[in-house]
Amino acid sequence: MDDCIFCKIANGDIPTNYVYSDDRVVAFNDLNPQAPVHVLVIPRQHYASSAAVDDPSVWSSLMDSAVKVARSLGLEDKGYRMVINTGTDGGQTVPHLHLHLLAGRNLGWPPG
Ligand code: 5GP
Ligand code: ZN
Repeated sequence: MDDCIFCKIANGDIPTNYVYSDDRVVAFNDLNPQAPVHVLVIPRQHYASSAAVDDPSVWSSLMDSAVKVARSLGLEDKGYRMVINTGTDGGQTVPHLHLHLLAGRNLGWPPG
């Protein structure tokens, strides 16, 4: 996807300090953080949203990477939240699948 900002982040067209990367996933800090820790974990492959995923292994790599990032940041004791916004009602603004890893404050429930 030539015009996808997260594809550009994943393929290096936009230089980014990755919090984590492997052959399938990259993770980086959100531009507009909503908590003291706000990391985006994305597949390198373009999927417009969670609804477009047709390969279950995308989920294993994405979730496994997100938990690795949480551990690497020492979040497992106090906790964290993982969120995947999907579509208009879900509040998705960037049409490339991404998981938000949020932590560092009490996040409250229910979400807005
Ligand atoms: P969504 O609302 O789609 O679930 O989340 C998109 C997230 O991407 C937002 O939290 C927004 O701040 C973040 N974002 C949008 N553009 C960029 C960017 O160019 N770089 C980074 N690091 N984050 C971005
Ligand atoms: Zn993309």
